[in-house]
Amino acid sequence: MAINVVTISDDWTPEFLWRNGEFVAWEQATIHINAVGHASVAGVFEGLKAYKGDDSDQLYLFRLREHMQRYVESARLSRLHLDYGRDELCAAVVELLRRNGIRRDIYVRPYSFARGIVRQLMVPENVATETVIDCWPFDTSLRSLKGCKAAVSSWRRLDDTITPPRVKAFSNYHNGRFAMMEAKRGGYDSAIMLDGNGKVSEGPASCLVMVRNGRIVTPSTTSSILESITRDTMLTIAREDMALEVVERQVDRSELYLADELFFVGTAWEILPVIEIDGLAVGDGGIGPVARGLDARYADLVRGRAPDTRGWLTPVWDE
Ligand code: PMP
Repeated sequence: MAINVVTISDDWTPEFLWRNGEFVAWEQATIHINAVGHASVAGVFEGLKAYKGDDSDQLYLFRLREHMQRYVESARLSRLHLDYGRDELCAAVVELLRRNGIRRDIYVRPYSFARGIVRQLMVPENVATETVIDCWPFDTSLRSLKGCKAAVSSWRRLDDTITPPRVKAFSNYHNGRFAMMEAKRGGYDSAIMLDGNGKVSEGPASCLVMVRNGRIVTPSTTSSILESITRDTMLTIAREDMALEVVERQVDRSELYLADELFFVGTAWEILPVIEIDGLAVGDGGIGPVARGLDARYADLVRGRAPDTRGWLTPVWDE
C-alpha cells in the first residue's frame, strides 16, 4: 500500500506573506497571469522548517543561515539578481513567522523569479526579480517512522553538464517529477535516480543514505545531488554523536540491493526509511537501528531538546 511521504497543507494560508521587503495580506499577493510559466523557468527557491520547542511555545528555525546561504548561491549560479542579502532574508523569515503568530511546526518557502511582464522563455541575466516568502504547517514524521517502497528510475538525474543540480531551481523539479510519476505508476512510493554515469544520485526531493556493514555510505556532492542541508546534518550527527564511520563516494546501483539500511533524508521528508527497493527487502525489511538512532537525535536537535552546540537553531520568539 502506498504511503503519503510528504505532508502538505493546501487549504491553510498564512495571514501575511513577505513580498519584496513588505508584509502583504495573502489575498493581496497577486501577480499578472502573464508571469505564470515564463517566470518559473529561471525561478529559485528554498525550503526550511521551524519546529516547535518541546515544552514551550518557542519555535526554532533549523539551519536558517545555511538555507539562506544556499538560496543566494542558487540565485548567483542562475545569474538572477536578488535585492536582498542572506542576513536580510534570515531576518525576514523570522519576522514573517512572528507576524503570522506561528507557534506550531511550520514549513517556510522563500522563492524568487523574474519580475513584471515576462515574454522571453530564456529569461535574460540579472532581470529585476521578486522575492516572496510563504509558509504552511506540516505534520512531522519524526519519532514515528514509516518505511517506503522505492524503485530505481529509468529517468536519469540531470547533471552539471546539463543544468546544475546543486541549484535549487524550480525548473530542476521537472526532472524529479518524471521520476516520481513513473514510481507511483509502478505502485512505489518514491524513485531513486541514477546520475549521468549510471551511479546512484538521489531521490526526487531528498538525498539517499545507505548503511552497509556498520558504515554509512552516501553519494558525494559531485553525484548530481542537491547539496542537502539535512544530509550534512545527518552525516555530522552520525560521525560526531553516534561515532559512525561515514563515507561519501560514488555508489553503484547494485550496492543498494545489498544495503542493511537505506533511507532518504531531506527537509521535507526528514528521514524516510526505504524498506523495499525494486521488490527486494532492504536488510530484514524493517526500519534499522541507524535510521532509528538518527531519527531520535534529529528530533531532539530540531526541538531544542538537545543542547544546540553547533548553532543550528534560530529561536523565533523572545522568551
Ligand atoms: N535533493 C533534492 C532534489 C531536494 O529537492 C531536496 C529538498 N530540498 C533535497 C535533496 C534535500 O535537501 P535539504 O536537506 O537541504 O532539504
